[in-house]
Amino acid sequence: MWVYVYYVDGLLIDTGQSGARKHVLEEVKKLSVEQIFLTHHHEDHSGNLEPLAAHFKCPVYGSSACAQLMEDPPRISFAQRMVWGDRPANKNIIPVTGKINTRQFQFELIPIPGHAKDMLALYEPNKGWLFSADLFVNDYISYFLYSESMLQQIHSLKKVLTLDFEVMFCCHNPVLKNPKSRLQNKLDFLEDFYGRIAAIYDGEMTAKAVFRALNLKENWQIQLLSQGHLSKLNMVRAAIRDINQQH
Ligand SMILES: [Zn+2]
Repeated sequence: MWVYVYYVDGLLIDTGQSGARKHVLEEVKKLSVEQIFLTHHHEDHSGNLEPLAAHFKCPVYGSSACAQLMEDPPRISFAQRMVWGDRPANKNIIPVTGKINTRQFQFELIPIPGHAKDMLALYEPNKGWLFSADLFVNDYISYFLYSESMLQQIHSLKKVLTLDFEVMFCCHNPVLKNPKSRLQNKLDFLEDFYGRIAAIYDGEMTAKAVFRALNLKENWQIQLLSQGHLSKLNMVRAAIRDINQQH
């Protein structure tokens, strides 16, 4: 899976994974970074924060939840360490809400929790740009981290679909044309998945029983490699947690 780091008008959005440090530093050091923004705490976004912040001696911003999480980041799986690489704690993230400005642009910060509770999108209404962090990734998705919420993702997708933008700078899969139709696909997919679970879940079934009843198929390679951190079963667990919280 590709990871994208964006630079616009002195602002660096995310820092990539530490596994690609050599390449990221080589490219990003050519730029004149004045501020760094972390969309969320995951290791493929925060992996090169330390060397980049030290090099540019610039402030680092993120949501208050991101700043808090980065003080003692959650442990990652063996597979995540192999694929991305880990990142150290960081106590220097300045919490921001509302807006982040560059010389030419004003980015509205839009909370989009679900994939991660601290995640923010950056929206530039005058340019029609949305830096969507990991809200999209793909039209369909076949695994979640244990910590994800499905209902929050559904709400975040609906919120973002009310905005007016033409280009979506996704951190894994930029969409340069018709991004809203792609986000709608993702919303439809999650609503359908959630709806099918809500229709059969009786308040007592285990996640595994729901999984079997819906005839779902696990991607075992991903499930095993990630030691269970990434799985389709986690999608079912997330939906059940959300349904239980609704009551
Ligand atoms: Zn993420």
